[in-house]
Amino acid sequence: MSDRDVVVVGGGPAGLSAAVFTARHGLDTLVVDAGGSILRRNAHLENFPGFPVGVNARRLLDLLGEQAGNAGAVRASARVTRVALVDGDDPVSSDGPDDSASSGPRFAITTDDDDRIRTRYVVAATKNATGYLEDVDGVGLIDRGKTFVDTDERGRTGVEGLYAAGRLAEKPHQAAVCAGHGAEVAVTLLEDDDRPFYHDWVAPEGYFSDRGRPIPPGCEEMDDEERRRREAESLETTRERFTEPHPDDQETHPSLRED
Ligand SMILES: Cc1cc2nc3c(=O)[nH]c(=O)nc-3n(C[C@H](O)[C@H](O)[C@H](O)COP(=O)(O)OP(=O)(O)OC[C@H]3O[C@@H](n4cnc5c(N)ncnc54)[C@H](O)[C@@H]3O)c2cc1C
Repeated sequence: MSDRDVVVVGGGPAGLSAAVFTARHGLDTLVVDAGGSILRRNAHLENFPGFPVGVNARRLLDLLGEQAGNAGAVRASARVTRVALVDGDDPVSSDGPDDSASSGPRFAITTDDDDRIRTRYVVAATKNATGYLEDVDGVGLIDRGKTFVDTDERGRTGVEGLYAAGRLAEKPHQAAVCAGHGAEVAVTLLEDDDRPFYHDWVAPEGYFSDRGRPIPPGCEEMDDEERRRREAESLETTRERFTEPHPDDQETHPSLRED
């Protein structure tokens, strides 16, 4: 049994993008993914922002996963089989007495390799898979041939602490929209949490402080030397990641697979 602040169920564009934001704000974030993002079937991704001549979709998923890891999220390959409510008496990981996460876990999560995890927040980002949510009273499931989770305009479900992101929350079937929604849902979670949060921004030195303002929670100021160091690191890493074609085979619809 391990305790987390946030468990993200599903490691496609929505889940990984959500994890970047929660982990960057210091929430102990675990992404549990069964490994089957539908984006793996794309042949060449030409409408994701930032790639003017497109990008290999498996490469993009790798990069999103690496980004979540660099932000501090832990990733596990497993299928979540059940989410259940707990009574919330026990503390989850806590940085101190004022840490809102110390008020205890709300959910107990079970995986197909028999891991049990307790967590205060769950972000469900599993496209149309919802079986693991059936024991949670108050989650609205919408059946339109495929199943979706009913949410408000910011990704909150009817259960406090449980959010849905991406295609699962009825967002358009587009990678950029689902990634953006994952980010929006994570920011909603941060705003709902008791820890102070303003925006996740990186600003040049003095941007806030030289105007007599404290640096807001979630923001960072960096001097020129640090900015150049990070840019050099990003140039080197990007060059390395794009040296070779992606090694994974093209995937297609399972019904077309030759066994
Ligand atoms: C052939 C094809 C081409 C496409 N081309 C484009 C394109 O060109 N441009 C574009 O914008 N979009 C494209 N898409 C759509 C895009 O792939 C999806 O809209 C996007 O991947 C949805 O993101 P998501 O994170 O919501 O879901 P997904 O990417 O499907 O991620 C869901 C994740 O949840 C995991 N999961 C499910 N159940 C569980 C569980 N119980 N426990 C743990 N993990 C679980 C899955 O394994 C998966 O990794 C294409 C789709 C297809 C099929």
